[in-house]
Amino acid sequence: MTEHRPDVAPPTPDTLARAGALLRDGALVAFPTETVYGLGADATDDRAVAAIFAAKGRPHFNPLIVHVSDLAAAERLAVFDERARTLGEHAWPGPLTLVLPRRPDSGLSLLVSAGLDTVAVRVPGHPVAQALLRAAGRPVAAPSANRSGSVSPTTPMHVVDSLGDRVRLVLAGGRCPVGVESTVLDLSGPAAVLLRPGAVLREDVERLIGPVSVGAGNAEAPTAPGQLASHYAPRAAVRLEATGADPDEALLTFGPDGFVRGGAVRLNLSPDGSLDEAAANLFAHLRALDRPGIRAIAVVPIPDTGLGLAINDRLRRAAAPRP
Ligand code: AMP
Ligand code: MG
Repeated sequence: MTEHRPDVAPPTPDTLARAGALLRDGALVAFPTETVYGLGADATDDRAVAAIFAAKGRPHFNPLIVHVSDLAAAERLAVFDERARTLGEHAWPGPLTLVLPRRPDSGLSLLVSAGLDTVAVRVPGHPVAQALLRAAGRPVAAPSANRSGSVSPTTPMHVVDSLGDRVRLVLAGGRCPVGVESTVLDLSGPAAVLLRPGAVLREDVERLIGPVSVGAGNAEAPTAPGQLASHYAPRAAVRLEATGADPDEALLTFGPDGFVRGGAVRLNLSPDGSLDEAAANLFAHLRALDRPGIRAIAVVPIPDTGLGLAINDRLRRAAAPRP
């Protein structure tokens, strides 16, 4: 069988128009967002959405995030109460996903909700994502553009390495500036629940809508490691809270690291100790250290504040026992 490589194209007006037409035609298009690269499909088309699950090897019970270009478009898909509207007005476009009751007349494929009566919606801020959503003219379902369970892509080449010919077109928009997936906030019930930490912090949300609780299995609520679903995992094992590394390990550090010894190879997430820089580098560094002959990636402790909460959430899942 010959291996087809996907088209990798910069986001010119022509390629954006072509990407929009491909989406309307039921094809899969990968595109940059401020968080990670997304694998997009027309969210109103059952077959296109099914193709996302097939391309990723994603279990059908794991629902998808639907992306739209603005709050008005989001309100046509889901029921917004005052909390949701406040957040939509203040945090969008941006790396915040809201889980809301699905409107019966949303027109969305039932597959995006994986059988739930809620839908996760987001208005991304990346200019290429915005241009693509306008070119498509419909809601776009988009999980991260990688095989299910593995490390999320933050560059176009990561997408090609992970999905190969399973995607028709990759819009190449450089490195993703945030680098970890969106904050997911469940507002479908009376209490606001943080389902996944991201760059929009719990305290940012609480300033706008009041108390937010932390969902079960979330890294902000310590649970037994066995309860954590394995996700974001490189091929090599991941060992956390490292103070040094063995000769067959790679070392991933943060901040000044002259005193941390060992490792066949090493990378620093942010020599200056910036959590923003560390998040942007996290997935690319995990991929770069995941080399033949490396048994495990040893990771030094990362501060558990601000964006560090999202980084540690991803690292704990990367280190969780594999299925
Ligand atoms: P990903 O597409 O890999 O970025 O993951 C999307 C995240 O949003 C996953 O953690 C999903 O479980 C979550 N999610 C999407 N839709 C819903 C929903 N309707 N209810 C609860 N969580 C959702
Ligand atoms: Mg993902």
